Amino acid sequence: MSPLLVRADLRTARPYDNRPFPSAGAPVAPLNNNESPFPPRGRHLEALRDAAAGALATTNRYPDTDLTALRTALARYVGHDVRPDMVWPGNGSNEVLLHLLLAYGGPGRTALGFGPTYSMHERIAAITGTRWAAGARGGDFGLDAETASAAVRAHRPHLVFLCAPNNPTGTPLDPATLDAVLSAAPGLVVLDEAYVEFSRLGSRAGMLSDHPRLVISRTMSKAFGFAGIRAGFLLAAPGVLEPLRLVALPYHLSTLTTAVALAALERSEELLAHVPGILAERRRVRDALVRAGHDVAPSDANFLFFDTGGDSTHVASRLAAHGVLVRDLGPAGWLRVTVGSPDENDAFLRTLADSSS
Ligand code: PMP
Repeated sequence: MSPLLVRADLRTARPYDNRPFPSAGAPVAPLNNNESPFPPRGRHLEALRDAAAGALATTNRYPDTDLTALRTALARYVGHDVRPDMVWPGNGSNEVLLHLLLAYGGPGRTALGFGPTYSMHERIAAITGTRWAAGARGGDFGLDAETASAAVRAHRPHLVFLCAPNNPTGTPLDPATLDAVLSAAPGLVVLDEAYVEFSRLGSRAGMLSDHPRLVISRTMSKAFGFAGIRAGFLLAAPGVLEPLRLVALPYHLSTLTTAVALAALERSEELLAHVPGILAERRRVRDALVRAGHDVAPSDANFLFFDTGGDSTHVASRLAAHGVLVRDLGPAGWLRVTVGSPDENDAFLRTLADSSS
């Protein structure tokens, strides 16, 4: 088919690609996607299986359009006085961010973000024809209030993206920066809290009642270990979420996803009980990297961003050859590694030491 039939702005675009190097060996330590290393087991797996079986018994019916039960369970899980009508669930946070940009972005509109940051924000802007204004972080990957609000004043964006903690750097978001952006922004302020369960600062959901243009995105892909299920949600004032009904497809979230997400939320404390262990491993891996002479960005998430001190693409490819997968997203020299199980982390540290010698 002629590529000229494709939308002009997509002709030079490349699809999202997180495939490991072709040279990758059998995965020993898949530490490239910020996933949880722990699949559900035992009675948790049983509960999810029961929920899925219940949903399968009603496949002839369309799902509940309002997703009332799920919105209620998510609101309860988030706390901070969030009400069910302040929750918009979807197939992962990427999908609900797409809904947001379909409704509030588009041709003639601008979204601002601060790199290096989560690449899908810019990509979802591009998919929806929204212009992307690229702000920049400081040398330590932090984002100060002054820099952020100056960029907001310069671009007057319809949406500003902030990420707390930020991916791929892991750095926390200074509360003063969020305040400054909320004061300066003429449109929506989107706060991506995909990794918030790992963060010392916790969720800013309590700010929603005072900030009607704040939108928070969350996901069950990370701390819940639900990356394969695809369940994410937005939190915002009901008036901000209402227009999303105009752009989402009917019945966008399946009965199966909803049932399994509900079952997981019912046992959220038990499913999240591994978070302190991940944080302890994060400290251990960080200390080992520092001892080996690497610069490591301060992390508030389940991953670490470190300077290889050399050619990061070469290091990532050598790690991959031994089945240790990490992400090489730039800037040059830096790699992102997910905190995995103790064995996976040992494999990473050992292989990195061997690859660097
Ligand atoms: N936001 C951030 C910052 C992420 O890192 C990710 C996943 N890599 C997502 C959103 C998307 O998560 P999902 O679509 O799986 O909910």
